[in-house]
Amino acid sequence: MPLVRMDEILHAARADGRAVAAFNCWDSNSIQAATLAAQRTGQPVIIQASPAEEHYCGSRAFRTMAEQFADDAGVTAAIHLDHGGTLDQAETYLKSGFKSVMLDGSRHPYDENVRLTQETVRLAQGFGACVEAELGKVMGLEGDVEVPEGEALQTDPDEAAQFVADTNIDCLAVAVGTIHGVYRGKPEINLARLAAIAERVELPLVLHGGSGTPDDLVRECIRLGIAKINIYTELMQAWLGGLGEIMGPDTFPAPGKFYTPAREALIERMVEKISLFASA
Ligand SMILES: [Zn+2]
Repeated sequence: MPLVRMDEILHAARADGRAVAAFNCWDSNSIQAATLAAQRTGQPVIIQASPAEEHYCGSRAFRTMAEQFADDAGVTAAIHLDHGGTLDQAETYLKSGFKSVMLDGSRHPYDENVRLTQETVRLAQGFGACVEAELGKVMGLEGDVEVPEGEALQTDPDEAAQFVADTNIDCLAVAVGTIHGVYRGKPEINLARLAAIAERVELPLVLHGGSGTPDDLVRECIRLGIAKINIYTELMQAWLGGLGEIMGPDTFPAPGKFYTPAREALIERMVEKISLFASA
């Protein structure tokens, strides 16, 4: 099955009151795990690349692996660039066959975010691709920029409606209290704010920093209009936990001995997330 455009599965998800899991993947193991998790659950999946890891497997190899593994598993999958920082980065991924990119202009003032996003939309349209943008600041590590909690600015509902009208994007990432990385205290998700945004924005809404958010809060967010949830930190925990069970300073196992259980741990975590998001 060929890869699909991300916005297609997101529109269907928001209409159905579901969300699609978007997994940040970094190599062949993680990409394959995402397709196998989609196969086990019978749900679509989004496989995301980050420019911070471009030098590990590259955008072209990433696309090729995702295409092949999705086809092998017979699943519906989309690939997406997460947190592109510049138009050049977005263009690299678009040229490599990604039909969806995010250019994160949220660190800039509103007008500059609009300008960058408009240019990204123009660029992506030339490749028949869709665009995710972000308004407001998600706490934690945003790409390579640390957003401290005190400085965190949540998305303004009226500004969100204006931003969508100004930019013609396909989906909007909102800042409503989740964080990139590990929560230090109890997660405080601003559900009232999310409801107000969802009332004004019909597009699929995206929740970044989904790892560690309690299931009941996740379900509530999906009911309110979140159609895509980004997961990275929990995947890395599962993967490293799986590797750690086998590896020691004096062990030299064959790759199948440590990759197989680590990949299985990854698939299991992905299956949990996909199932939760699909059943909200
Ligand atoms: Zn993010």
